[in-house]
Order: sequence, then structure tokens, then C-alpha cells
Amino acid sequence: MAMGLFQILKQAFTAVPTFDDLNDEFYDSLEEALILADVGAETACDIVAQLRKRVKERFLGRMEEVKDALRDILRSKLEVGDSALTLEGKPAVVLVIGVNGVGKTTSIGKLAKQLKGQGKKVLLCAGDTFRAAAADQLEIWANRAGVDIVRQNEGADPGAVLFDALQAAKARGTDVVLCDTAGRLHNKQNLMNELGKISRIIDRELPNASKEVLLVLDGTTGQNGLIQAEQFSQIAGVTGMVVTKLDGTAKGGVVIAVCNTLKIPVKFVGVGEQMDDLMQFDAHSFVEALI
Ligand code: GDP
Ligand code: MG
Repeated sequence: MAMGLFQILKQAFTAVPTFDDLNDEFYDSLEEALILADVGAETACDIVAQLRKRVKERFLGRMEEVKDALRDILRSKLEVGDSALTLEGKPAVVLVIGVNGVGKTTSIGKLAKQLKGQGKKVLLCAGDTFRAAAADQLEIWANRAGVDIVRQNEGADPGAVLFDALQAAKARGTDVVLCDTAGRLHNKQNLMNELGKISRIIDRELPNASKEVLLVLDGTTGQNGLIQAEQFSQIAGVTGMVVTKLDGTAKGGVVIAVCNTLKIPVKFVGVGEQMDDLMQFDAHSFVEALI
């Protein structure tokens, strides 16, 4: 996972075989490496400044200590909240948002299987009514995961589909409703209205249930992903992120960028197109894998 960032950091460290080589050049190349890995200029600069300060203050004298310090700093950037889903009340609702093609529907399918594996009764809500194929795709995932789905015809009001899904969930004793949405961001006002309406329906129908709003980002889009995340988080009360496609060319640094900039926890990472290719995010093992 995220081998790009790993490779880049490894190069930065092998360039300085001994602690005596730990000079400005090292810090500059580390900063450059982090930027190359999609960490973003601002966050990279911040990380390197913290590392410099720590090395100086704590009189760190061995390369291994410097690496430990960097691990620690990266972890602190990533630990911005609980990476577990909050699923309180019955049913709990998880709304999945993000632009087209980032992996919303796929991630819902994978998540459905995980939750079912934990003994939960899951229902999928086909809230992307923009294209008929969207509900068909979600239905394929529902069948694969062996969970229920509520859908309507193409062009139906997403709020109406959600209302139906919540009624069905209440009647069937469902534990978790995973709600797919259409990924249109070209009209901010439109999206805001739609998400506002969906939120109001959930609050009205399930006043005591928890509501997660998961924003899905494509890990291969680098800094564009960060911009999307900033826009969405201004519109919707995003409670967690899913970063997908970390199996491909993604360098993984975007995970650090979004956590540090938006202070929203990454809850899952997508590492492939298959059912089992979704992992709960763990800052500790992510950093261990990097350095
Ligand atoms: P949506 O438009 O946001 O619902 O995106 P989809 O779920 O339809 O996914 C778009 C494409 O990305 C599909 O071809 C998926 O198979 C692919 N995809 C989703 N998640 C991952 C992932 O973690 N890794 C890889 N390699 N492909 C993914
Ligand atoms: Mg979709």
C-alpha cells in the first residue's frame, strides 16, 4: 500500500547513511520527497520543521532516533479522530459522498460485507438515481455481499429513496443503512440542497441514530483530492474519509495531507477492486509501512 511514499522516504534516508550527514540538504530532500509523495507543500514544510526542532531539542544523535521522531510526527498528523465507524442507534446511517468515479459504490459494497461479517444486518440505499446503471451496480454489490437493497427508478428523488430505505430498515430491524449518492459537484448549491434535504430526512426519521458522512477520495488524484475534500467538507458535515485506489499509482501522501489540513480522520482505505480490498485505517501500521 502507498509504496510510492515508502520508496520516496527510503531514498531520502539512504541518501544520509550517517547522522553526521543530517544537514540542510537532508531536510530539503526530505521535504521534497514528501511533496513528491502528495503530502502537499504546506504539510511537508510543517513536518520537516517539526522534525528539525525535535532533533535539536532532544539532542537526537542516531539515525534510528531521527526516524522514530519522524514516525511520531507523521502519526500525530494522522491521528485526528477515531478511525472506527460510529454506529449507534438502530439503524445507524452511513452516507457516502464524493465526486464521480472515486469509488463510492465499490466502497459501500466492500463495507457491507465487512459489517455483515461482524454480524450486522445491513441495507443498501441506492441514492444515486442520476443514472439507472448506478442502482444496478449497487445491486450487484448487494448480491455479492448478501445484503438487502432499496432502490427506485432512474430519476427518482434521492430523498424519497432514502425515506423508503429508512422505513424498510426500521421495519426489518436493520442495524446499518449504507446510502449511496450521486457524485455531482459541478453545482455546489444543488449538492448542498440535496445533502441538506437528505440530512433532514435522517434527523426526522431517526432522531437518535448516529449519522456518519463518509467522503470518498481517489488516492491517485493527489492534490486535487485535497481540494475536493476541502469543498465537500465545507458543504457536508464530513465525519470521516475513505481514500481509495492506494493499490495503484497513488503515492499515499494525500492521506497525510487530508488529515493534517482538514482534521478529519481517514476511516478506511481502498486497496483494490475486489470485495475484501477495504481496510480500516490504522495510523500506526500506515506509518510503520512507510518508514
Ligand atoms: P463511484 O462513481 O464513486 O461510485 O465509483 P465506483 O465505485 O463506481 O468506482 C469507480 C471505479 O474505481 C471502478 O472501476 C472501481 O472498480 C474502481 N475502484 C474503486 N475502489 C478502488 C480501489 O480501492 N482500488 C482500485 N484499483 N480501483 C478501485
Ligand atoms: Mg457510484
